[in-house]
Amino acid sequence: MAQNSKGIETAEIITDQCMGCQICVAECPVGAIEMMEGTAHIDPELCIGCGKCQEVCPVSAVRFEKTEKRLEADKEIKKTTKSLQERSDVAVYIEVREGRGAEVSWELVGKAHELAVKGNGRVIGFLLGHGIHHVIEEAVAYGCDEVTSSTIPFSTAIPQKPSATP
Ligand code: SF4
Ligand code: SF4
Repeated sequence: MAQNSKGIETAEIITDQCMGCQICVAECPVGAIEMMEGTAHIDPELCIGCGKCQEVCPVSAVRFEKTEKRLEADKEIKKTTKSLQERSDVAVYIEVREGRGAEVSWELVGKAHELAVKGNGRVIGFLLGHGIHHVIEEAVAYGCDEVTSSTIPFSTAIPQKPSATP
């Protein structure tokens, strides 16, 4: 990472790749780029690290880590957003009878699991009631990836999936 004496991260020209089009010279807001023997050169002490030269260079002859890191981060965000958009989570209401999850609910969770797998999503179970922590374990065992209830805070109701399914 190139830095000038002011601690600003600066851009650098990869002279071997520069074809001397001078686009960056015209775009630099502080006149930090000049042409020397047909290639662009940046004065690091004048450079303010705006990254404009890298954006406009048609042959990627400018190295500027800050922009590269930002672009990488943008790519990662886009990738994550895309996978979230493509994901189809399935929600299931889990009925509790006499302190246990109703059999019919586990059948629904099973079906939801099949659907969720097809849609690259997760099964989210919803529980209503008091003193039903143990039903969360059951729900996970039957195929829920996440369980929330009306009495347990959402963030604490995500149990680890057990390795064995009954
Ligand atoms: S990073 Fe900005 S200030 Fe530095 S040389 Fe490129 S265009 Fe000029
Ligand atoms: S825009 Fe790129 S190719 Fe053109 S002069 Fe600047 S560094 Fe060289």
